Amino acid sequence: MKLDPETLETLSYPQKTLIVSIPVRMDDGSLKIFEGYRVQHSELRGPFKGGFRYFPAVNLDEIKALATEMSFKCAVAGIPYGGGKGGVCCNTKEMSDGELERLTRKYVQAIYQIIGPEHDIPAPDMYTNAQMMAWFMDEYSRLVNKYQPGVVTGKPIEVGGSLGRDAATAQGGAYVLMEYMERKKLKPGKTKVIIQGYGNAGSHAAEILHNLGFIIVGVSDSQGGLYNPKGMDPICIQKSKKKDGTVIKCSQEGEPVKPHEILEKPCDILVLAAMENQVNEKNMKNIKAKLILELANGPINNEADEYLSKKGVDIIPDILANAGGVTVSYFEWLQNQQAYYWPLEEVNVKLKRIMLESFNRILKFKHDYKCTMREAAYISAFDRMEKALKLRGSGAHLRCKVYQK
Ligand code: NAD
Repeated sequence: MKLDPETLETLSYPQKTLIVSIPVRMDDGSLKIFEGYRVQHSELRGPFKGGFRYFPAVNLDEIKALATEMSFKCAVAGIPYGGGKGGVCCNTKEMSDGELERLTRKYVQAIYQIIGPEHDIPAPDMYTNAQMMAWFMDEYSRLVNKYQPGVVTGKPIEVGGSLGRDAATAQGGAYVLMEYMERKKLKPGKTKVIIQGYGNAGSHAAEILHNLGFIIVGVSDSQGGLYNPKGMDPICIQKSKKKDGTVIKCSQEGEPVKPHEILEKPCDILVLAAMENQVNEKNMKNIKAKLILELANGPINNEADEYLSKKGVDIIPDILANAGGVTVSYFEWLQNQQAYYWPLEEVNVKLKRIMLESFNRILKFKHDYKCTMREAAYISAFDRMEKALKLRGSGAHLRCKVYQK
């Protein structure tokens, strides 16, 4: 795309990196220190935006990469944000609610000087949820001495959340998928779908696609999967997942398979909604789907991406396919700033418009540059970010490393 090398150089680094040590009093009276991060990649197009995750293997490189991807995702969707990401190394499965609340409040205390509704707006990510966003908002509001719901998104409805945020990632992906189907003259009733991952993104995708008439032939979570070429009922599976914590107990819906096997079963569309690097050198040759929808971030590694693209598999890339999540987070923030809340229909009409505009723009770049949808999505993002950089001037992306340990 004849990108100016200075643009690439500028966007290759995050603007600000903050590392913090977070002391938390544990239930047994001991003091534990957790390491936390907030990385602000770029505010060229607006305040930094991106979730924070609680996970034992969280590390700075991962958070930098995810913050960078958020800048691209917001640019693809054309929403006025840059990218950011945060995380704390911890294992939520071993912590009580009280410990998690104290950790969240201490994390806010450690980073509050660099965030804010007009500066950097976190959100939930892996193993962080709406309750933690409520604690986050409460602690920030206390620290700055005014009610600030717009400091974080993904909150419960009762404390400034938006209707439609729960299903937004899957709903946004479904709007793009239906547009793709129409252009290819394909019918949902004749299309078999496998969904990997049955959490927020995957379970909503199963329900939405089932309601649109797609035949769901496979689902999976970290413990295993179910396959049934005749189709299955996602509502029944969701009930079972809620009760037993896994989809595999719902054996009346399909034949049980190992977690990785589900990806290789016959289907027309594979929806990846679990985690990164799921399709790779080991399984890429066994993938049967003709289309992959990436609801997870980075679920296909570079080698597999190249192999599948050469084989003619269409891939709707993560920075487009799952942009519905950050788009409705943007709507939540707008509603908080106006203190005026929209009905669900309004949220979904606006989400659909943004998803389809972003997709059509990508298809135009795909046509002009004769490239894959992923390359076109990055061209779309770089185009918007480069224009912002040129208009603001090269000093706009001032770099500053804060190592506050
Ligand atoms: P989640 O924690 O709610 O669900 C993740 C699901 O994946 C769980 O059902 C888990 O059991 C399953 N899983 C984990 N390892 C697996 C494996 N090896 N095989 C099969 N399933 C496995 O998370 P989520 O919010 O649904 O996010 C899923 C992905 O979507 C992540 O990559 C996330 O970054 C991305 N994403 C989510 C949102 C959102 O709004 N939730 C927005 C954008 C991107």
